[in-house]
Amino acid sequence: MSGDPTAGVDIGGTKIRAAVVAPGGAVLASATAPTPSGGEAMLDVAADLVARAVASAGVLVAAVGVGAAGVVDPGTGEVLAASDSFTGWVGTNLRDGIVRRTGLRVVAANDVDSFLVGEATWGAVRGVRSAAGIALGTGVGGALWLDGALYRGAGAAGEIGHMPGFGDARCTCGQRGHLETLASGRSVARRYAELGDGADVGAAEIEDRARAGDPTAVRVLADAGHAVGSAVLMLAALLDVGHVVVGGGLARAWDLLEPALLARLREEPPVSGHPIEVRRAVLGGDATVVGAAALAR
Ligand SMILES: [Zn+2]
Repeated sequence: MSGDPTAGVDIGGTKIRAAVVAPGGAVLASATAPTPSGGEAMLDVAADLVARAVASAGVLVAAVGVGAAGVVDPGTGEVLAASDSFTGWVGTNLRDGIVRRTGLRVVAANDVDSFLVGEATWGAVRGVRSAAGIALGTGVGGALWLDGALYRGAGAAGEIGHMPGFGDARCTCGQRGHLETLASGRSVARRYAELGDGADVGAAEIEDRARAGDPTAVRVLADAGHAVGSAVLMLAALLDVGHVVVGGGLARAWDLLEPALLARLREEPPVSGHPIEVRRAVLGGDATVVGAAALAR
């Protein structure tokens, strides 16, 4: 493993962030800009932010890791699938596009994969042998760290947000009953409107209302925690992972999610008898960008 800093890039739906990260995980410099429309424009912004972060850190970087929204082919670096909020993103070759613009070695992965690598390298599940990562954001993403390395499959390994068996509501992917229909920020807001007085409020406001005792708000967040608990049990049954790290914007409501999640694990402990430890992510908004930098090491 090289002792040089590496750069990480987090390409999301609203913003793109680049950072230069020291071998120990410290962010030496960073730069952020809004996400433009179109794959090539997104890569232009990403490469420009890397150049700005590198210039402001005043160091040479060995390589760039890119963590991007969507399913990324581990072999070619091409975006295979993405939410339809990303115009012109599917078919973009992340790796070649950033290599061409920066002249650096590039590793490209999904943003939740990068988040988990960050937490496994420098965060909540540092040093554990196997862990699953769950990101509760606008949607629900997942990733797998198995025997000390990221497991990507053909690019979509661990994408638990679209696992079936979670009711009958229509998912953002067009199918029904996926985990994401109960446990994403967007679905918490939709269910609160459906079950309550129809109020169109966001997840952050629903968290505040739950803490103030609003029973509908408490219920939709408990349902989200319960659903995540069921997903954790499936991951544990399939892969015997002993640790799970939960991040993303909705994890701010950890105090409201965790009791139902842990109750679900107690209801049906894994047949292996192995305990599952669920931890909240600790790297916050930087997990993906530092994880991408760790991937490039
Ligand atoms: Zn789905």
